[in-house]
Amino acid sequence: MAEHMLKFVSLPQQTPAKRAADDRREDFNEIYDEFAPDAAASQASRCSQCGIPFCSVNCPLSNNIPDWLKLTAEGRLEEAYELSSATNTFPEICGRICPQDRLCEGNCVIEKGFESVTIGAVERYVTDTAFSNGWVKPILPASEREESIAIIGAGPAGLAAAEKLRGKGYQVTVYDRHDRVGGLLVYGIPSFKLEKEIVLRRWKWLEDGGVKFVLNADIGGKLPFAELRARHDAVLLATGVYKARDIGGPGAGLPGIVKALDFLITSNRKGLGDEVPDYESGLLNAAGKDVVVIGGGDTAMDCVRTAIRQDAKSVTCLYRRDRQNMPGSLREVKNAEEEGVTFTWLSAPEAFLGEDKVSAVRAVRMHLGLPDASGRQSVEPIEGSSFTLKADLVIKALGFDPEDLPGAFNEPELKLTGWGTLKVRPGSFETSLPGVFAAGDIVRGASLVVWAIRDGRDAAAAIHRHFQAAHRAQAAE
Ligand code: FAD
Ligand code: SF4
Ligand code: SF4
Repeated sequence: MAEHMLKFVSLPQQTPAKRAADDRREDFNEIYDEFAPDAAASQASRCSQCGIPFCSVNCPLSNNIPDWLKLTAEGRLEEAYELSSATNTFPEICGRICPQDRLCEGNCVIEKGFESVTIGAVERYVTDTAFSNGWVKPILPASEREESIAIIGAGPAGLAAAEKLRGKGYQVTVYDRHDRVGGLLVYGIPSFKLEKEIVLRRWKWLEDGGVKFVLNADIGGKLPFAELRARHDAVLLATGVYKARDIGGPGAGLPGIVKALDFLITSNRKGLGDEVPDYESGLLNAAGKDVVVIGGGDTAMDCVRTAIRQDAKSVTCLYRRDRQNMPGSLREVKNAEEEGVTFTWLSAPEAFLGEDKVSAVRAVRMHLGLPDASGRQSVEPIEGSSFTLKADLVIKALGFDPEDLPGAFNEPELKLTGWGTLKVRPGSFETSLPGVFAAGDIVRGASLVVWAIRDGRDAAAAIHRHFQAAHRAQAAE
């Protein structure tokens, strides 16, 4: 065992410094500082180099965590970067926004008794250092191949697939209906979790490696899917899930009740310097308002914290279950509480009040009942427990479902699962349409960036196998 490792016994866990809440509320900059070089090395040295590393087993990318921690502890950062980037297209992004407490770090063996190795912060540090030192080189295929592949969707699934396919020499074109590359990394996730520059430098990196981007290209809208299919030898669908789950009840149609993603896209565009009329008009701007966000997932957490930074008068999160049973990351709840968000647990909206626009939410208290077939406790309203919350802006953050792709693409043969996601053959990522593959949230349902990267990587490998098989079949004829 290297002398550098196993320091967890004597060295306590140290996370990168977090900015004070009062300071964070004033801007949209990231809230965690970068590790200082010494801290990164010493924190990496806390790893006990497990024979069976449960951190890696529970990382969706099976990252070779103990080895790059050891290299970091030894100061061999360029090698650490090479190793971490071999399995992860965007280590610096995962290091920032993976829910590590549920994945790698939550399963680190020294978590029991000592606190886990700060894997995410080291992963981020290694790749940020690689960018600063010029170690991140453009993709350089060993040879060019003539097959051309279209990827629809420039989110993490599409971009991870683009990296891997281009690395094999394919001619890759990524189409997206937005004007920037990144999908939810740019337009969903706020800058205080992931600064936009981090995503935009990856856009340039992919372009430098020969990946082509066609933006403002709404496939199924202005550009028919059939035309795109005819242009390319294979297509990968990585379009994500965007149909917002809605809420009914009296007053649900009142102005001032908005969808989470509309609110977040507006805020992100404003931060990117775009002209955003709905922000300027106040329609999608929390400034000076009493804001109620409905939901308990990561999207809801991003909305409450965005509203705080837009200088809302008050921000309340209404969630029908309790803190222990919410889907969002507890780390983000803590951050939101520090920043001044009020959480009203075990409460659900009953009606939205107001004349020509929303002015209040009437909510009812809930209690948790017996577990259902899935093991999750049911929630039931408590009779006579209604209460009213003042609200000039209500943000619905109840999750997302897939859009109707067969309808949008005019491809009735594109088969769906019972959840409305795209049906793919296990292992091959191929949909019911020959030569059309799919990956990311559109297959998995709303998930995580790290899973999208994994799917993109695996779908690229499946597409490569598809072409190799076709070549073998041709050669045998
Ligand atoms: P997306 O990122 O959604 O990308 C799909 C792309 O396809 C988009 O750019 C879209 O414009 C494009 N597209 C769709 N239809 C068409 C069409 N017809 N023509 C052309 N282009 C099209 N995950 C985490 O791990 N950590 C987090 O902190 C986190 N926070 C989140 C916060 C919010 C607000 C949201 C909504 C999600 C968050 N997630 C988080 C989840 C994560 O962002 C997604 O799981 C991930 O982005 C899915 O990747 P994807 O590539 O499948 O899809
Ligand atoms: Fe942990 Fe995510 Fe990095 Fe995997 S990709 S090591 S889960 S932070
Ligand atoms: Fe190191 Fe923890 Fe992974 Fe073990 S589980 S190899 S201690 S990071």
